[in-house]
Amino acid sequence: MTGQPSETINQTLGDARLQLAIYSATNRLMTHRAGAVRADLLPDYQELRTEANQLKKHTIEHLDHYLELFEKNVIAHGGKVVYCSDSQEVADFVLGLAKERGAHLIVKSKSMTTEEIHFNERLEKHGLEAVETDLGEYILQLAHQRPYHIVAPALHLTRYDVAEIFTKNLGVENEVVIEKQTKIARAALREKFLHADIGVTGANFLVADSGAVVVVENEGNARLTTSAPKIHITVAGIEKLIPRAQDLGVFLTLLGRSATGQPLTVYTSFLSGPRRNGEIDGPDEFYVVLLDNGRTKLLADPEKRQSLYCIRCGACLNHCPVYRKIGGHNYPWVYSGPIGAIITPQFHGVLKDPWLPFASSLCGACAEVCPVKIEIPKLLLKLRSEVTDAQRRQGVGGVERLAFGIWAWVMTHPRIYLMLARIGGIFLPLLPKVGPLGKWASQREVPKLAKTSFHQWWKAREVPK
Ligand code: SF4
Repeated sequence: MTGQPSETINQTLGDARLQLAIYSATNRLMTHRAGAVRADLLPDYQELRTEANQLKKHTIEHLDHYLELFEKNVIAHGGKVVYCSDSQEVADFVLGLAKERGAHLIVKSKSMTTEEIHFNERLEKHGLEAVETDLGEYILQLAHQRPYHIVAPALHLTRYDVAEIFTKNLGVENEVVIEKQTKIARAALREKFLHADIGVTGANFLVADSGAVVVVENEGNARLTTSAPKIHITVAGIEKLIPRAQDLGVFLTLLGRSATGQPLTVYTSFLSGPRRNGEIDGPDEFYVVLLDNGRTKLLADPEKRQSLYCIRCGACLNHCPVYRKIGGHNYPWVYSGPIGAIITPQFHGVLKDPWLPFASSLCGACAEVCPVKIEIPKLLLKLRSEVTDAQRRQGVGGVERLAFGIWAWVMTHPRIYLMLARIGGIFLPLLPKVGPLGKWASQREVPKLAKTSFHQWWKAREVPK
């Protein structure tokens, strides 16, 4: 399959430092997750996964009802809901509001949805300053990089990289002690919190029956983002809805454990409406921007719509042998790993990056750890077939199809197969030394051909009488 960024993938594969960083971080996350879902600690883990899957399925199939209910409850608490079909509409809304209120500075907590629509860049073009306040996201913003991982955005950077980034951008000493780096970031960000006009967050869940926005995090920055500025805006995909507050028992139990191995993240904030009379903090204005950006297109396909069940825990990335080798930046969109491989083609069209659904060994590890039981390998196979169908219609991929056609014909003609196998046995050992196959083989240990083929062995075996 052509079109993949082979040069940057090769660079990642050849970078020992980066390989170690990806491997050790994902390994740590895998180990923590495995410890947190152990049968003796969470005996009903599989039942919870099934329940989460059923709850998401139900919500997605009745999304119009739950969107209306959520909106009604947000309004009842004094907030407003804004529906946006794409990134431009989100930017227009925020820019319009900022202009009306004379706002200049926005603080943000980690949100993949705003990454998806290039929120910061769009606002910065119009003179607004949007500052990331999650430590990993802050480092990446200074380094002008996009997230490497859904949950651990700066997973690929070492403390030495961070020291360089801080020295270059914040004018501090080359500081390599992590605790001191954290203090440097905290001091810079406190200033931003104190002067911010608007706080922007994503949402982990939108609770329809109470109109609450639920945000989970470990650093406390989301809590400051939602309580210090006078205006709070949540930007969330429409798939973040869940029916009832009591369903959070299922999702919160699974999310922290699947993401980082924590029974519960350090902060879980329930935000519903602006500050009420007598409350000492919280915003004066509360908005929830519900983003479509292609999600309703996914809803239309009864099989593939399960991609919208994702709660962005990142477990599938940590367990994916492909992600663990090629890392996050070789995927073409902000969503990387197995979840990226299934949603990116659905959002952007299967022909934009046709190699993506093929970037999987189909080992099934992603589906085994997915807390909402998305059938990722099955969807990858479906997308592969959509890619090849679309390419056939465009007259692309003829050589590959011809090769597989010949292969299928040979495999169904035993005499021809045996003859070619004999010839192949003579020439095959030479092949890895030449041409593109040589390059492929140079990065692998090519197994030696057996001296006797299976057919020869079968014929020669002694059959007991
Ligand atoms: S697909 Fe499943 S495992 Fe992967 S990020 Fe989404 S919820 Fe987590």
